[in-house]
Amino acid sequence: MPQQVICEKCGFVLYEGTELKPPDEIIQTHDGKCPKCSKKISFVPKKVEVRAASNTGKKR
Ligand SMILES: [Zn+2]
Repeated sequence: MPQQVICEKCGFVLYEGTELKPPDEIIQTHDGKCPKCSKKISFVPKKVEVRAASNTGKKR
């Protein structure tokens, strides 16, 4: 199931993919801040929204 990590301030997609990535890695990827609004990324579960991207209905 795809994972989406979104900046809580501006809604920028910090990470999107099918693998679960460790928060540290996502933070490092963006130099510790949101590339769009420069908000410091913190991975307190309440502050960062992690949700599954909607399923497009692929079926096997
Ligand atoms: Zn942002």
